[in-house]
Amino acid sequence: MAIQTDPGKKALIFEVKGNSLDDGPGIRTVIFFKGCPLNCVWCHNPEGKSKTLEISFDKNECIMCGTCIEICPTGALDRENPFYIDRSRCTMCIKCIEKCPSGALSLVGQHLDIDDLLAVIEKDIPFFKYSGGGVTLSGGEPTMHMDFISLLLKRTRFLGINTLLETCGLFDLHSFMDKVYPWLNTIYFDIKIFDDTLHKIHCGASNRTILKNLEHIHCACRKDGIELLVRIPLIPGITATEDNLTSIARYLKDLGILDLDILPYNPLWFDKCDKIGKSHQSADDKTAGQWMTSEEIDHCRAIFDGFNLQ
Ligand code: SF4
Ligand code: SF4
Repeated sequence: MAIQTDPGKKALIFEVKGNSLDDGPGIRTVIFFKGCPLNCVWCHNPEGKSKTLEISFDKNECIMCGTCIEICPTGALDRENPFYIDRSRCTMCIKCIEKCPSGALSLVGQHLDIDDLLAVIEKDIPFFKYSGGGVTLSGGEPTMHMDFISLLLKRTRFLGINTLLETCGLFDLHSFMDKVYPWLNTIYFDIKIFDDTLHKIHCGASNRTILKNLEHIHCACRKDGIELLVRIPLIPGITATEDNLTSIARYLKDLGILDLDILPYNPLWFDKCDKIGKSHQSADDKTAGQWMTSEEIDHCRAIFDGFNLQ
């Protein structure tokens, strides 16, 4: 379900990152939107899942001055609480954030309008020109803000800037093709789990619409010369299994999608979950906290190589 946005209004964004080399070609400005229709257990941006403002507590920054506990009107802060904040009691008055002397408490998300974002983007134009970069919309899921990103992308393209969308693929296709697709140079489309039952268990929703959307968008991109890159996150024991990767490889090969990228597992989401008070929705915290070895990554890559996908 898209978040209804008046194009002139603001969207909730949790980070605007300049000088990124990780989210598309060249140097890019990456805008991370809050809200996602999926609920992947390993999400490496857990602060992007919720479509509302959140409060973050970084225990490593806390100097234990007690100011926040004294000032909180609802008694939501408690050192005995492993997450420090009882979010069911927090009214988001942000008094604690305003008074925290160390920056241990902070707000996740800010409401920005299109002019706010274009002001940041325009400053980076020399870097885009020098490097072949541009603007990337990420999240969370940017298409949850369909009307807002439609106007943002349109105005970005009018400035002659390259645009890229990173998406989980779960959106209303008609709205996407009408409002967002015309303003894109590149689409990074994530496919996670091929089996629908497992997709529901680990990602919180069916993959049927995602696969149908991919099939349609693949045909459109081929016709219009728009770059489409399918990305597969490697999550040990969940997506990075022989069965799942083989099924995805066969499916992509049958569709004629030959360009893909694998995203090796990033365990840093653990730390982020702690800060925003979300539990690790994982059966095995010990292995989920480890990076993949290069042998494990090579093994996954070899499955796609076997189908002549790269
Ligand atoms: S935001 Fe307000 S209610 Fe929530 S923990 Fe801080 S002071 Fe308490
Ligand atoms: S005000 Fe900030 S530094 Fe002081 S106890 Fe609270 S979180 Fe820690």
